[in-house]
Amino acid sequence: MNDGLRRSIILEHYQNPIHKGLIEDESYIKQNMNNESCIDEVNLMVKIKDNKIQDIRFDGEACAICTSSTSIMIETLIGKTVEEAKEICTNFENMIDEKEYNEEILENAIVYDDIYKQPNRKKCALLSWWGIEKILEMKK
Ligand code: ZN
Repeated sequence: MNDGLRRSIILEHYQNPIHKGLIEDESYIKQNMNNESCIDEVNLMVKIKDNKIQDIRFDGEACAICTSSTSIMIETLIGKTVEEAKEICTNFENMIDEKEYNEEILENAIVYDDIYKQPNRKKCALLSWWGIEKILEMKK
């Protein structure tokens, strides 16, 4: 992916993050995540039904990388099964850690494929993905 396209996707998701704002609904599973090395604090809520991710919402204070990564994660994971979502999370983490990964399944999340150049921002990109994984683990 070229730098211009990468930047425009990140900027769009930072300025207009999707599904921002929590709702009152007991059927969602909630998870709070924070990153003490940055300002990031994210509250996630996920609705899983029939083994599929039906909806994800979030709110909180977060930097540009964390906010855009959360929004892109939501866009990528809604509609996926629990197993597919876990697979995508694992591959996203591998990409951030410079290990082998399958870029086919990461969709727009590949915009962070150069985040290793800023090691202190890796956690910003990963925070919400770790949060979703915690929720998915509960659904075993
Ligand atoms: Zn951050």
